[in-house]
Amino acid sequence: MLKVLKFGGSSMADAAQFAKIKAIVESDDSRRVVVVSAPGKRFKDDHKVTDLLYLCHAHVQYGVSCENIFQMIRERYEGIAKDCGLDIDLSADFDKLWRKLCDGVDKDYVASRGEYFAAKLMAAYLGWTFLDAALWLKFNLDGSVDQEATYAALRQAAEGQKVVIPGFYGVMPDGRVATFTRGGSDITGALAAAALDADVYENWTDVSGILMADPRIVEDPAPIRRVTYSELRELSYLGAQVLHEGTVFPVREKNIPLNIRNTNEPDNPGTMILSAIEDETADDSFITGIAGKKGFSIITICKSGMSSEPGTLLKVYTILAKHGINVEYAPSGIDIISLVVSAEKIAPRLYTILGEIQQEINPDSIKVTEHIAVVAAVGRKMAYRPGVSGKIFAKLGEHGVNIRMITQGPEELNIIVGIEEKDFQQAICVLYDSFVKESM
Ligand code: ASP
Repeated sequence: MLKVLKFGGSSMADAAQFAKIKAIVESDDSRRVVVVSAPGKRFKDDHKVTDLLYLCHAHVQYGVSCENIFQMIRERYEGIAKDCGLDIDLSADFDKLWRKLCDGVDKDYVASRGEYFAAKLMAAYLGWTFLDAALWLKFNLDGSVDQEATYAALRQAAEGQKVVIPGFYGVMPDGRVATFTRGGSDITGALAAAALDADVYENWTDVSGILMADPRIVEDPAPIRRVTYSELRELSYLGAQVLHEGTVFPVREKNIPLNIRNTNEPDNPGTMILSAIEDETADDSFITGIAGKKGFSIITICKSGMSSEPGTLLKVYTILAKHGINVEYAPSGIDIISLVVSAEKIAPRLYTILGEIQQEINPDSIKVTEHIAVVAAVGRKMAYRPGVSGKIFAKLGEHGVNIRMITQGPEELNIIVGIEEKDFQQAICVLYDSFVKESM
């Protein structure tokens, strides 16, 4: 049994957090690979080390001294080392970074040192081997990960050892250090789990899993215990922000479960993300989650005989694609189609696009409805229960929410409604109250 663990910035913030990590890791023998982020905020107005590193780089770029900021970073690590009782000297590494900074080294290298120093300290603290990500995480020239080379290199480097790996960065084919986008240590952890065929990838953060609805809208939403990768995709597409975008792919591809856990509440099982859930239990609620997003427009095109005229839709889609607009949802009737698109993207080109559609397919009418929000109830169990959509529409209607568009994914994983933006919060609360609270 092998578990790969990734600890985020808040879990790495100070010596007290380091102690929690040590207890978590040492409580289970199968936890043998640890990936870490750079120290994050300790309190509300604190700084993330990565932000400070970017700030140092920007100062040098503009010829402004950054000695004070650099000193803050250095003291942050020295403080953790001292409070953890570590006998480790990072001065040579820091002196080297300072020289490189002054010589104008690139931004990615500077930012990557946040994770590099963090992993060095954690390795010393756990008494494990420090394994530099630059030795195995290989990028292609286009910035994608060379999975084959990466997996082979990690397998060889980590063989039979307990290792601590810095997240967030790897190397380009020419040996230059490059980073993922912000929050990318999640991906490093997923790649490590996939490379080593881990039994589970534990992503340790400061929340006890994914919540069933946005806590800024619903008061104290329940956590999701188990969710499939497909459900998670639906939820995150509509705004549920949980993991870095590229995280899921490597572990999903290998059917490795991903467990979101809370470093500050280690006994909480968190959320388990799985490829499929065969043994449904009563604990798994009927709806997995509710998510939504504002900022859509609906273009509704009517043309009699549209469905029997081959190529009409192709023409419309081609026009949109030419202008870089993708269609998010497209519910249709026999002579009518509604295209849900991003309001922000279409706004500057709206009249040009409508003109082109008019010319190309000569519809009976085109109507644009603005200020639309999309809300989805996502749940793998919905497919087996009749009457769900009826209940959704009835509940929204009872609360005066006017539904402008309805669509259901082909796998019946979600029911999506388009509503007016002003009703957004209300719709989410109504769905949560009727489907989650009432069934609890
Ligand atoms: N430290 C990096 C950031 O703040 C990467 C990460 O934490 O995943 O974005």
